Amino acid sequence: MAETELVFRDDPYARSCPTRIESAEPGAIRLSRTIFYPAGGGQPGDRGAISVIGGQRFEIIDTLKGASEGDVVHVPAPDAPLPPVGVDALAEIDWARRHRHMRIHTCLHLLTAVVAAPVTGGQIAEDKGRLDFDLQDLPITLDKDEIEAKLNALIQGGARAAPRWITDEELSRQPELVKTMLVKPPMGQGRVRLMEIEGIDRQPCGGTHVVNVGEIGPVKVLKIESKGKRNRRVIIGFAA
Ligand SMILES: [Zn+2]
Repeated sequence: MAETELVFRDDPYARSCPTRIESAEPGAIRLSRTIFYPAGGGQPGDRGAISVIGGQRFEIIDTLKGASEGDVVHVPAPDAPLPPVGVDALAEIDWARRHRHMRIHTCLHLLTAVVAAPVTGGQIAEDKGRLDFDLQDLPITLDKDEIEAKLNALIQGGARAAPRWITDEELSRQPELVKTMLVKPPMGQGRVRLMEIEGIDRQPCGGTHVVNVGEIGPVKVLKIESKGKRNRRVIIGFAA
């Protein structure tokens, strides 16, 4: 099967894109190109709709990764009629929801700069996100107000965030770039997508981010939970 062109990789701000319906079966619609982000790296899959040009509209309730890196499965509502195959269509995402995911996701990158400990897991939602840190034997105490103040100062700083590609070899030479097991870099394809927030954070990531951290807006630390002796969960959310 031909790979789907991942439009969201180069243009995370695209709210719709022309496409062609390649296949449609219960639970799985595949497109020639897509702006739907498939669930991964703690970020939920996009929702939206696929509209056949001059025809019907088909709701998409979730998006998942298929068998390979470029295989994106658009999940229609259960028992909903399936679209015709081989026709031109317009793919549209629930942009308000996705943009909130992008803001939370980018803020979690900032959080890895504020808390200098390895990340063991994380999750992104529309209104909040969390990272789990392994403090190991590092002399770190996590203070809710301090983390919140640092995050908001970084956000106000308005640094640019942009992806670039590096080779597998470059990544192997800089293992410190990998801060998390959450978004394991897809090595073996010759290149890895490195997300860079100017002067703040660099790490391999295939997710969707805002282009300027100012776009995140004010945030608060909702809670810091203890998950055993060495592990802490930091939960952040929008302040407004
Ligand atoms: Zn990311």
